[in-house]
Amino acid sequence: MAKKYEGAAIGIDLGTTYSCVGVWQEQNDRVEIIHNDQGNKTTPSCVGFSNSQRLIGDAAKNQASSNPTNTVFDAKRLVGRKYSDSVIQNDLLLWPFKVNADANDKPMIVVTCKGEEKHFFAEEISAMVLTKMREFAEVFLESPVKNAVITVPAYFNDSQRRATKDAGVIAGLNVMRIINEPTAAALAYGLQKRANCVEERKVFIFDLGGGTFDVSLLTLKNNAFTVKATAGDTHLGGEDFDNRLVNHFVNELKRKNKVDISGNSKALRKLRTACERAKRSLSYDTEATIDIDAICQGVDFCSSITRAKFEQLNMDLFEKCMKTVKSCFNDAKMDSSSMDDVVLVGGSSRIPKVQSLLQNFFRGKDIFKSINPDEAVAYGAAVQAALLSGGIKTVPNLVLRDVIPLSLGTSVSGDIMDILIPRNTSIPVKRTQTYVTCDDYQSYVLNEVYEGERMKASENNLLGFFNLSVPRAPRGLPHKVCFTIDADGILNVSCEDETSGNKKDITITNEIGRLSTDEIKRIIQEAENFKAEDIKFKKKSEAINALDDYLYNVKKVMKDTNVSSLLPTQSKNKITSLITKCEYLLDGDKNEETYVFVNMLKKLESITESTLGMKKNG
Ligand code: AMP
Repeated sequence: MAKKYEGAAIGIDLGTTYSCVGVWQEQNDRVEIIHNDQGNKTTPSCVGFSNSQRLIGDAAKNQASSNPTNTVFDAKRLVGRKYSDSVIQNDLLLWPFKVNADANDKPMIVVTCKGEEKHFFAEEISAMVLTKMREFAEVFLESPVKNAVITVPAYFNDSQRRATKDAGVIAGLNVMRIINEPTAAALAYGLQKRANCVEERKVFIFDLGGGTFDVSLLTLKNNAFTVKATAGDTHLGGEDFDNRLVNHFVNELKRKNKVDISGNSKALRKLRTACERAKRSLSYDTEATIDIDAICQGVDFCSSITRAKFEQLNMDLFEKCMKTVKSCFNDAKMDSSSMDDVVLVGGSSRIPKVQSLLQNFFRGKDIFKSINPDEAVAYGAAVQAALLSGGIKTVPNLVLRDVIPLSLGTSVSGDIMDILIPRNTSIPVKRTQTYVTCDDYQSYVLNEVYEGERMKASENNLLGFFNLSVPRAPRGLPHKVCFTIDADGILNVSCEDETSGNKKDITITNEIGRLSTDEIKRIIQEAENFKAEDIKFKKKSEAINALDDYLYNVKKVMKDTNVSSLLPTQSKNKITSLITKCEYLLDGDKNEETYVFVNMLKKLESITESTLGMKKNG
């Protein structure tokens, strides 16, 4: 029986650089991609901390160059990874914010917030972004939102998927389903192309975003989407192209201007923002300029870059994308010429060189560009959310059959990886395998669970391990291991001793890198505190602005000689004295509580209303 979900259900594309949220609107029979508070349909996945407040989205990105060490981005590159992971170690060199390891080798982001050092897990930062996306949806729908489908790159491993789900829980969301980004994009494409085609259509989704790259090959027939193969790189995207540009200009600055900005986070942030802008304009222009006033030591930096140079700097990365495309076709045992449609998703798929390499690979085939690459994933997630909550009546029985991106198995004697579920197997799936003990009278069996494609088990990613007690017996005692993957692509492993009939299920206890339930509880409480502080800050800002605004009007009226000359001296003195007090309050560091500003405004309003006949604020 299908699970029932109360209330609205949204789809969130939680991107490395930008996030996007959509909702199915039954009255219009389509997905609405929701604007943020700035009127934009995508929101930077960025969180900033200042002396007075926490900022999320555009506001955080806007303060990034003035406060780089306390502006966190790229949390998606950290989730579900260990601090010692070589990928993280390389990223650390480029991030202006500090990341340390906790006792379990889990990365912790270190910022200064309101003068205090604070530590956050990547899941917490992602949760802050998710909370913001949820708030935009609540404003749009004018009702609370609890249920959400969140997307992840198809190539995300088990730990990264679990960490994303944890982030959703911290954000107070009921995560109905985690779905793969290219599959979500396929849903968006399918809905526009009408999924109920009788003839099977073969569709290739190419998703190159800000930090991740995914490709998926799927078929579409009679409302069923079946993923045949998926491949990708969880660390390849627009930011890597930006990095190449940044390095190029850092070297140019050294050469031409004799300044080295490589250790200067403020200057690097300014340069990175300019490089991203230049990269975007190179998608429609053949040359872009970089113009930064006072980048460092009073040096104004002005330079340009051609599209050809940009392509040359990134060619190996573009070729890496094409290698992945080829491997996906090999896995699916399909030929590129058999594809009916090639769909581009992700902002970086707009890069002309990427498009021309793809066009060559598909031998001149038209590439489907009519879905918005920035919105397609959120669009599909919103469709899935509506389907799960029974919100779509006009498109019945859409079925999504996804696959797992990496093989899953256990280690057997000699450190051999024994695969129980090969990659690209459709999910949900359950596979059971019987193993036997290899030593006489051993008292327990060790089950190590790995994901990856290497033959040597220890060279794959260890997801967890557990021991199962068994009766002491000569070698060859059987025990059954069962791997189950749910619709979110999340794995559970159990083991059963067949001889004693002991049917106790054992799931992985040592979930490396995963937050414990207690940690999640603590973080949810902290997130609540943050929310309360944000509301408090907003109220105070509103009170200060209201006072400032009213004071401005009072001063304007008082400047009018006709008014002030007619005013009795006593009233005039009272108003002048209050004006001075207000100015003192507003010119200070504004550390007073909100009520101080509110009371001052009330006093000012009351006197000016009776003496000048001015209207109250608001
Ligand atoms: P997404 O994760 O899909 O939102 O993609 C964001 C990435 O796309 C960022 O790295 C952007 O810099 C990049 N991007 C967006 N528009 C363009 C464009 N016109 N040309 C090149 N890259 C772009």
